[in-house]
Amino acid sequence: MSASTPSNHDHDHDEHHHDGHSHHRHADSERPGHSHAPSKPWQATRAEAVEALLHELGVIDSARVDDIVQHYEERVGPKTGARVIARAWTDADFKARLMSDGLAACAELGIGGPETELLHVVENTDAVHNVIVCTLCSCYPWPVLGLPPAWYKSSAYRSRVVREPRKVLAEMGLELDPEVEVRVWDSISEIRYLVLPQRPAGTDDLTEEELMELVDRNAMIGVAKIDAPEIQS
Ligand code: FE
Repeated sequence: MSASTPSNHDHDHDEHHHDGHSHHRHADSERPGHSHAPSKPWQATRAEAVEALLHELGVIDSARVDDIVQHYEERVGPKTGARVIARAWTDADFKARLMSDGLAACAELGIGGPETELLHVVENTDAVHNVIVCTLCSCYPWPVLGLPPAWYKSSAYRSRVVREPRKVLAEMGLELDPEVEVRVWDSISEIRYLVLPQRPAGTDDLTEEELMELVDRNAMIGVAKIDAPEIQS
C-alpha cells in the first residue's frame, strides 16, 4: 500500500467498495509475474487482497485504513519535523527538552501519533554527524517525518550505510570531512531517531517560520546538510 500514490489508493478502494469479490480476482495475481495490472507492484496487490479480505471478515474497516494512509500521506510529513527543528534552533529550553525526551517535546507542539514509543533526537555538530537507518526493516520516526522514502527501505541503503556510511553519504551528495565522526543509529520498533541538523550560517535574522522552510527531510535523516540560504540582493 505504501507504494501506491494517493490517487491510485483511492481508486483501488473504489474497486473494493463496488466489487465485494475483488479479492478473489486479486488472489490470482498474487504470484509475482502473474498480474492483471502490470503497472502495480505485486506487493501492493497482495496488501489490497489481504485488506479486502480482512474488511469482509469484519476484522478491519477499510474506511479507517484509508483514513490512516491519508493521514500519513497528506497531513504528516517532513514539514512536521521541520517545525520541531526550527523551534529547537530558536528556543534553547525547547531544544534541551527535545534532546532529553523527544516525544514529550513534540507533544508540546501538538505532534504525536503511533509508531514511536521513544523518539531519540541526535544532534549534528562540527565534530559529529549522525545518520539514521533501520537495518532490519524500515522503522522511521513517523510522527515527525511521515512515511519513509523508498530508498530508506531499500536493502542497499539498509545494509551499506552501517558498513560504509561515508561512502554511502558521498554517493548521496554529502561529502564529510575525514575528521568528522559519523554515528549511524539503527532504529527499532520502539525507538526511532531524528537528526537535529546544524543551523546554517547566515540565518541569525531569520524567523522560526523562515527557518522551517530551510529544513528538508533528508537532513533530518542525516543524508544531507542544510545549505545556507542564498543572499538576496
Ligand atoms: Fe524497521
